[in-house]
Amino acid sequence: MSRKRFATVWLGGCSGCHMSFLDQDERLLELVAAADLVHSPVMDVKRYPEGVDVCLVEGAVANEEHLETLRAVRARTRILVAFGDCAVTGNVTALRNCLGGAREVLDRAYLELADVTPRIPCEPGLVPPLLDRVAPLHAHVPVDRFLPGCPPSADAIHAVLLELLELPAGTPPAAAPRFG
Ligand code: SF4
Repeated sequence: MSRKRFATVWLGGCSGCHMSFLDQDERLLELVAAADLVHSPVMDVKRYPEGVDVCLVEGAVANEEHLETLRAVRARTRILVAFGDCAVTGNVTALRNCLGGAREVLDRAYLELADVTPRIPCEPGLVPPLLDRVAPLHAHVPVDRFLPGCPPSADAIHAVLLELLELPAGTPPAAAPRFG
């Protein structure tokens, strides 16, 4: 039987969910001994590969680059997991929606609140344009599994990965999570 392939992706989030992913500690070694981690912000692989079995996607969809990435991930992944509350509901990332659309948000941040040199960043190809509304993953693509929490605990992440990658349980969960 071929080894399972898993990945993680970081969209509009604070990276706290990935910190919790790393907080699996020695259980990460068990995971990578049994399955291949093929893409993640914690490793240096630029392009999301084909044929991924399970992907944890952190963060909401806030700009055009997020949306493009999410669609590519969906097309190349069998089981897509909304990883953390920002991915599940929009959460903190979606707070800007209460200001209005992208134009109102940019005006507020870069013009009204500027101390020096008010200027809205606009570098085509470098600064991805904001979407008018921040949205959770399922507003744009089908999601197979929701893993809530801000962030989800390392134990919850580990349990979901073992289940979805169909791996035997190894080291039991830590007695007291140190993050989240
Ligand atoms: S769910 Fe919480 S920890 Fe995860 S990216 Fe959002 S704000 Fe950060």
